[in-house]
Amino acid sequence: MAERIVYHAHIPHNTGLAWEMARGQHLRLYGQSIGDFVCFNRHNLRERFDQGRTKTYCSKIWISTGAPLMSKFNNPMLRIVYDGFAGTGTHDLQKGMCSGARFQRAAQEGRLAEYYNRDLRPEDLPDHGCWENLSRALAPWGIPPEDIPSPFNVFQHLHIDCTTGAMHNTSVRPGPGTYIEFRAEMDLLCALSACPDLTVGGKPYDVVVLEPA
Ligand SMILES: [Zn+2]
Repeated sequence: MAERIVYHAHIPHNTGLAWEMARGQHLRLYGQSIGDFVCFNRHNLRERFDQGRTKTYCSKIWISTGAPLMSKFNNPMLRIVYDGFAGTGTHDLQKGMCSGARFQRAAQEGRLAEYYNRDLRPEDLPDHGCWENLSRALAPWGIPPEDIPSPFNVFQHLHIDCTTGAMHNTSVRPGPGTYIEFRAEMDLLCALSACPDLTVGGKPYDVVVLEPA
């Protein structure tokens, strides 16, 4: 029996989307720029993805095929079963979400070039980012913005100096058709923001939920 697509959605650049999926289903995220991904236990929305628990469980700061995304309550929520970005770049478990306020602060402090590796004019800055996109997408489930965890940042390849801990954004991003695939380890509420990704310019995402063969 072939795999069956049960859900397919397109997320335009700098917007967000939330969807539910069942344990055992697979999730594919197609993108060519950063995507901020979060998830919650569908039966207890207080149980959320946790960057720190995930890094501690995996004993590493970069995760790929085989690794779980862990919850605050130390349960596996999803497991990566395929990583089309492996060998090209890595996903990020250090950073939070971009936002309108964060862009304005960077501009006021004259640090746009430091953060985004290029000269940006104030008029180039979007008035919102992943924080607002995820807040809007998750509002129908009653999740307040301050309860959205720091995300798993898909296709966000950082250069991290492992002696000083300095983090540098890079322009390393996947080519067309690249995806990362997960298996749900519990019933989930998921959300993704197609990041404005000011370093390279954000692109849309496609979300596909599959019933495996
Ligand atoms: Zn973002």
